[in-house]
Amino acid sequence: MYWNSSIERLPQKDLEEIQERKLKALVFYAYEYSPFYRRKFKEIGLNPWDFNGLRDLHKLPFTCKQDLRDNYPFGMFAVPLSQIVRFHASSGTTGKPTVVGYTKNDIDVWVECLCRALTSCGVTNNDIVQISYGYGLFTGGLGFHYAVERLGATVIPASAGNTRRQIELMKDLHATVICCTPSYMLYMSEVAKEMGVDIKRDTKLRMGIFGAEPWSEETRKRIEDKTGITAYDVYGTSELGGPLFTECVERHGIHIWADHYLIEIIDPKTGEPVGEGEKGELVVTTLSKEALPLIRWRTGDITYMETDKCACGRTHPRIMRILGRADDMIIVRGVNVFPSQIEHVLMQIPELGEHYVIILDRKPDGLDEMTIQVELSDKAKIDRTTDILELEKRVEELLKEYLNVRAKVEIVNPGTLQRFEGKAKRIIDRRKI
Ligand SMILES: [Zn+2]
Repeated sequence: MYWNSSIERLPQKDLEEIQERKLKALVFYAYEYSPFYRRKFKEIGLNPWDFNGLRDLHKLPFTCKQDLRDNYPFGMFAVPLSQIVRFHASSGTTGKPTVVGYTKNDIDVWVECLCRALTSCGVTNNDIVQISYGYGLFTGGLGFHYAVERLGATVIPASAGNTRRQIELMKDLHATVICCTPSYMLYMSEVAKEMGVDIKRDTKLRMGIFGAEPWSEETRKRIEDKTGITAYDVYGTSELGGPLFTECVERHGIHIWADHYLIEIIDPKTGEPVGEGEKGELVVTTLSKEALPLIRWRTGDITYMETDKCACGRTHPRIMRILGRADDMIIVRGVNVFPSQIEHVLMQIPELGEHYVIILDRKPDGLDEMTIQVELSDKAKIDRTTDILELEKRVEELLKEYLNVRAKVEIVNPGTLQRFEGKAKRIIDRRKI
């Protein structure tokens, strides 16, 4: 099933031609209408008339989150405010908030991208889609909302929070698809159990589209085992235009719609492109955005790319599961590790539950110490202290073996750790205090 068959299956060389044409136009557009990019181009001596498209891509400057902060609120907009039909904003937890704006056409492109994605993972107009991402300035809720409506499916605009009510809605309104963070889905399945609701038996839920935080393959398996649904990964950021891309039914990477977005993978330290199939930071250039065009936007997300044609028939490139954010990378005693890699190890151990937190401390001698608190699975038949200690030791050895990370593992009772209705906070870094 395709939403826009001709473009989704367009031969790659034709896609490249579109990218070539749109990239050249973007450089002129940015120079003409965005004082920010005009200044940046002048600084590096880039003349739009000399720009040769894709083969000159590396000559274009990067754009990063700090640029948006420095130009808060409207300094990077390329259209007058009268053409903006909607704002979204980031929460500003890591600094000043950032504001993004969309023209009517930007919203149309956003909806088109997500409609293609939802169709590629099997959502149809017969589905009833419960959107349990937050509605509001965060792009998750409204982003899904408009695409699901355009698709002709039914929306349950549940938003995040009030978990018991979510379960009732899911059951009573016959939701078949749910969209939320993977950690919230796991929490919902716990609450459902407390309410005596078996998601497999008592609801019509058949699939979930999960994102807004990095998650692992093992978490996917856990969600599927607990709820009986099929779990898909979704990608997008507010700067690029909210949720935009999902896995197709093949579930081998997330298709990035190349007629609207141009992607590169770079070495986050040097800024140079990495080799074919190598891991690095995802960099995205928007080819269709009017209000806030972004050239070589550094997403901070670590992934790798596959460009061969997918078994689903789509020709657009795929990014693989996001390993983590470049700035979430934990460096402990010189070893680099992402929380998702730790999760990968934890979730392979059936005695452990899904909820964990990573605590970083600096000891008086200046050495860093990592403690991982993880809940015991409610199915685990362990109550003797000695068995717990043994399990902790086993997990510590596995972490050492797989990730070369030395961590102290503390197993806590099920239901002890904090639950999140939006993005889970997995790292507590006490080293900065
Ligand atoms: Zn595919």
